[in-house]
Amino acid sequence: MPARLFVEPPLRLADLADLADPAAAATSPSSADFSLPPGAARHVQVLRLQPGDAVTLFDGSGDEWTAEVTAMGRSDVRVVLRERHVVDRELRSAVTLAVVMPANDRMDGIVEKACELGAVAIQPLMSERSVLRLTGDRAEKKRAHWQGVAIAAAEQCGRTRPLQVAPVKTLAAWLAELNAADGARWLLSPVAAQPLSARMRSPTDPSTAPSAILVLSGPEGGLSEAEENAARARGFEAVKLGPRILRADTAPLAVLGWVALNETGA
Ligand code: SAM
Repeated sequence: MPARLFVEPPLRLADLADLADPAAAATSPSSADFSLPPGAARHVQVLRLQPGDAVTLFDGSGDEWTAEVTAMGRSDVRVVLRERHVVDRELRSAVTLAVVMPANDRMDGIVEKACELGAVAIQPLMSERSVLRLTGDRAEKKRAHWQGVAIAAAEQCGRTRPLQVAPVKTLAAWLAELNAADGARWLLSPVAAQPLSARMRSPTDPSTAPSAILVLSGPEGGLSEAEENAARARGFEAVKLGPRILRADTAPLAVLGWVALNETGA
């Protein structure tokens, strides 16, 4: 299976014009080949690919392209696009995980697994009992790092739309900015009365699946009562994930996995 490489958008769609006349592209590949951006070029070099080797490129717009390496320089890697593939490996429900960040670099794992399982976005949050607090440049550096983790996960799992990592916010500020509820909003709470299944009727039935699902989960110390009430005031419904207390990184991924597997009917 050819290596899959994310390329910052747009993926030189102008070159696709040459594919309108494949004969022309075949006879004058130089007019259709182009240099990969540095990140993707480094990836090709690490894989020690050679001219003639195939790669799969995607730029986040949803499609992917088979391409061929045409030249390998010290840092420059040139490729030619061969064929466009319309693929859809996304969930029907657009799931966003609003996660009060756990400490100890556990966010890397949440981002990676959330991308593999099909979440469209992750909103890193800070709450009253947050251990991890990020502001200013440090917050943006972390967000950029997590976006890189999401892109690597998309390259590995076959998604063509990498999960988007939003800028870090406080829970209060984020709740205040939320627009009117569109779709389901679930507040993960170990003391909630209702199980998840009560919130989503026949999860395998596409006609009843919500178009968007927003999942809010707390930090190691949980959300305060006032924070849970503030979330309820913004349309969140509390759901319980069983009798055990799950870790701050386990709980949101368990919900995403439930939605993803129910969609596939697995
Ligand atoms: N002592 C904290 C409490 O009781 O809320 C435990 C927090 S738990 C380590 C981290 C987060 O995971 C919680 O804030 C909640 O969002 C979610 N969570 C953990 N177990 C859960 C369960 N059984 N049902 C629903 N949510 C759960």
